Amino acid sequence: MPRYPRVVIGRLATPTGLERRAIGIDTTTGRIAAVAARLDGDEVVDHGERVILPGAVDIHVHFRDPGHPAKEDFASGTRAALHGGVTTVMDMPNTDPATTTRARYEEKRALVAPKAHCDFALWGGATAPGADARAVAAVAPGLKLYLGESTGKVTFEEPDQLERLIADLQEVRFPGVLAVHAEQQADLEAARDKHATAPGLRGHGARRPPAAELAALQGLADAIRGVAARPEALSFRVHVAHASTFALLESARALGLSVGVTPHHLFLHDALPLGAYGRVNPPLRDEKEAARLYAALRAGLVPIVESDHAPHTRAEKGRDVLDAPSGMPGVETLLPLLAARAARGELSWHTVAATTATAPARLFALPKGEIAPGRDADLVVVDPADAAPLSEERLLTRCGWTAFAGHPAILPRTVYLRGEPVVEDGMVVARPGTGQEAPPVPRA
Ligand SMILES: [Zn+2]
Repeated sequence: MPRYPRVVIGRLATPTGLERRAIGIDTTTGRIAAVAARLDGDEVVDHGERVILPGAVDIHVHFRDPGHPAKEDFASGTRAALHGGVTTVMDMPNTDPATTTRARYEEKRALVAPKAHCDFALWGGATAPGADARAVAAVAPGLKLYLGESTGKVTFEEPDQLERLIADLQEVRFPGVLAVHAEQQADLEAARDKHATAPGLRGHGARRPPAAELAALQGLADAIRGVAARPEALSFRVHVAHASTFALLESARALGLSVGVTPHHLFLHDALPLGAYGRVNPPLRDEKEAARLYAALRAGLVPIVESDHAPHTRAEKGRDVLDAPSGMPGVETLLPLLAARAARGELSWHTVAATTATAPARLFALPKGEIAPGRDADLVVVDPADAAPLSEERLLTRCGWTAFAGHPAILPRTVYLRGEPVVEDGMVVARPGTGQEAPPVPRA
C-alpha cells in the first residue's frame, strides 16, 4: 500500500450520508492523492467523528480593498474567510477605484496578493463609464454586471449595452463567468418615487421590489437570445447573483443559468428588528419568502450559496434604514450557519458541500470543491457538537458585527489549505501571502 506524507481522517459527506474515510495528501503539490477507507501516512491526523467538508468557495465577497480599509481589507477579509471555513474567495470589482480596466485589475491584484490568507480570484467590472470589458475579460475569470444601482456607481447607462456586452464577450470567446446583479434600474426608480419615505426594512423592500429582479432577468434573457439561441451556446456561463425570491431562483434555473442565494435571504427577513443592519440589495423579503428559499435549498434546488459579504461600519449601519448603506458581512458565517443546520438534521451535509464548494468551484473550473483525488486538499473540519448561538465577539471581520448574532452556527476546528493547516483549534494560523490566486479558467 502506498504511503502518503499526510493522511487526514474523519467523516465525509456523501449523497447517502456521512462516511468515515482517510484522505491522503501529497504535501508537495497540496493536492488530494487518494481517498479510501484506510490509508498509510507519515503523519496521520484522525479527526474522529468530526465532519470534513471541502473548503468553501465563496464566489461573492466585497473586501473594500482598495478604498475602505476601515470596513475590511484583503488581509482581514481573508482571515475572516478562513475562520469560517472559506478557503477561496472571489472579490467583487466595486472597490474604490472600481476594477473596470485592465490596469486597475492588475493594480488590485498586486495590492491584494501579499495580504491574502486564503486563495482568491478577482472579478472584473463590466459596467461603468470607461469600463473596458473586453480587456478585463482577457485576464479576469469573471465579470460582474449591475443592471440596477447598488453600492458604487457601476450601472449601465443605455439599454442596448447589455446585448452589446454579451456579443462582445462571445466574440472574444470569454471562457469565464458573467455574474449579474439582477435588479432593473427603471423599476427601482419607479418604486423609489412611489415609496420614497416608507420606513424600515419593509420600506427598503418596497423601493426594490421582487418585480425589479424578474424584469432584470427578463432583460438578461432577451439580451442572451439576441446573441445565442441558448445560454449553453455562449462561450461563458451566466450567473444570477443573490436571488431574493423563489420566483427568481426558479426562473433563472429554468433559463439554464447559474444562480446563487445568500444566507441572509435564507435565514433573515424584513420583520426582524435589525434596523439598517438588515439593509441589503436585493432586500430581505418576508418570512414566508425566506422559508420558501430555505425549503428549496433543502430540496437541492439551490445551485450555489454565496455570501455577498459587504461590510459597513457600525456608525454607518446605526443610521436610519433610509440613510444607511446597503450590505452586510457574511463570508465568515456562510458555512457555520449551514453546518449548524446540517448538524441538527435539517439539511444534508452533502447539500452543504455541494452548494458552498462543489458547484462554485465547477462554475470557475477550479481544481477545488470536492474531496477527491486531483483536487486541492482544501478541507474544513467541523464538530457537530460545537453548534452554538453565534456571537459577534468570536468573529474576525473588521466591521465587528453580524446580523446573525444568536443564530446557531458551527465555526471550524481545523482548516487545511492545499494540504497545510491554516486554522488550528479554531485559530487562524495562516499568514498574509499564504493565499494564492486561483488558476485562470482554461481557455478553449
Ligand atoms: Zn454583491
